[in-house]
Amino acid sequence: MTGKQSLERLLEGNRRFLAGQAENVGAPVDLGSMVASQSPIAAVLGCADSRVSPAHVFDVGPGEIFTVRVAGNIAGPSELGSLEYAVHHLKVPLLLVLGHEGCGAVKAALHGDADGAVGGLIREIAPAVRPILEQDEEVHDVMLEAVSANVWNTMGMLIERSPGIGEAVRSGALHLAGGIYSLSTGEVSILQEKG
Ligand SMILES: [Zn+2]
Repeated sequence: MTGKQSLERLLEGNRRFLAGQAENVGAPVDLGSMVASQSPIAAVLGCADSRVSPAHVFDVGPGEIFTVRVAGNIAGPSELGSLEYAVHHLKVPLLLVLGHEGCGAVKAALHGDADGAVGGLIREIAPAVRPILEQDEEVHDVMLEAVSANVWNTMGMLIERSPGIGEAVRSGALHLAGGIYSLSTGEVSILQEKG
């Protein structure tokens, strides 16, 4: 399966989810077939937000997607290590960074700072999103633009911080994509390169 075919499979699942016709979440599973190995069709780096469950959003069952979740879908050392495993050992053809409408981590990075570990998380996001507040022209939807900027930033970080992931993308072995989940509609929109 190519990365683009994998993405199309996930989006088909999202359409079933939207239509109230999910087939896979909660369906009976042949556990025995998965004991020895796993071969997911994609890795998803998503937010920890309780409302954004990639398995539900894409209507997939156990074994289908390798999921890493962290507030603000950032690419820190632990996330990178997990994703490198998915790319190098499990040979996933697709790595999808999934941001979402109304992300609390992005909102915090836009408007404030925090102590402790949360502060470290916010500092990963802030450089990519704060410039939106300083744009001359009026931005239609600051939060949505910031969520999108954060996904693009994470995609860049994945390539920059992990030589292995960068090489897999450049060689064509890995398709790197970004998407935004709408809390209000349940739909995932794939980010398009600005031409
Ligand atoms: Zn979030």
